[in-house]
Amino acid sequence: MSGIRPTGFLHLGNYFGALRNYVRMQEEYECFFMVADLHSLTTHPDTKELKLNVHRVLSENIASGLDPDKVALYCQSHIHETAELYLYLNMLAYKGELEKTATFKDKVRQQPDNSNAGLLTYPVLQTADIIIHRASLVPVGKDQEQHLEMARNFVNRFNHRYGDVFPEPQAFNYGSELVKVPSLDGSGKMSKSENQNATLFLSDDDELVRKKVMKAKTDSGPLEKNSQKPGYIENIFLLMKLVSSDDTIKKFEEDFNNCTIRYGDMKKQLAEDMVKFITPIRQKAEAIRNDEKYLKFIMEKGAEKANKSAKATMELVRQAIGLNYY
Ligand code: AMP
Repeated sequence: MSGIRPTGFLHLGNYFGALRNYVRMQEEYECFFMVADLHSLTTHPDTKELKLNVHRVLSENIASGLDPDKVALYCQSHIHETAELYLYLNMLAYKGELEKTATFKDKVRQQPDNSNAGLLTYPVLQTADIIIHRASLVPVGKDQEQHLEMARNFVNRFNHRYGDVFPEPQAFNYGSELVKVPSLDGSGKMSKSENQNATLFLSDDDELVRKKVMKAKTDSGPLEKNSQKPGYIENIFLLMKLVSSDDTIKKFEEDFNNCTIRYGDMKKQLAEDMVKFITPIRQKAEAIRNDEKYLKFIMEKGAEKANKSAKATMELVRQAIGLNYY
């Protein structure tokens, strides 16, 4: 189970941190993937663009290879039971631990005039989203590691107090490490809302991709053979590893180690490989986004599957808590 907030176009971080895993998991597991529209209200209270953004995320999920016949692809707000589970979990979450959450502290810094209770309890709602399907694997990027640790704490408290209802959810990635896709300017990660010029979106046209990649921070090259790469150069290699062939990566690694690397050439190659990767997803997503009837059908079908699973879990939860006295 996993979700993505409809707060803008999806980017390479969303793809390699989350979506790529979704697409592989659908072949092996029973999967629930949602557009986290309720979570977006904690930071984007203006809902004028919400429907458009929900459609974008759904389209980009499908264009990236998610098959709505194989998974439950749905909208968070269509599963009303989640709100009930969120309420019960709130009694098991402590103010102190919520206030210490890194994402809460970041968001409060970013929006000091709107440090709402929804932001504070974001990890609680996220836990409810996951365990409403009694899910155990949660494909997410590295930025979600702390939230998953909190989810395990809430689950363990629930199970300890009321009996074993939920499996412990784990952050999941094919390959051992969770992924953090860095931004092109050498600082921070790709993100929907910050660093837009240093983030490659799945909706960027070819020229924009080239422009952004060519602006990535480099220097005049290493002076000593086999020296250590500075962080911003390491990032360019990391991005190359996501989309380029092994031969290409090997060539530039060797050039770096021999001090003959030309970063202009490396960025041109990276830009072309990015264009090759992004263009088919962008074109497919555009076509799907224009088909509102299809998107409505997908959401209804997804909600039906997700509601079935959520209702079954809530029967167990009410029973376990002892809310079954009539
Ligand atoms: P969000 O865009 O915050 O709703 O995140 C949706 C998913 O994308 C989550 O699983 C995040 O961990 C993942 N994600 C977002 N940005 C990145 C990034 N730069 N690198 C890796 N994963 C990311």
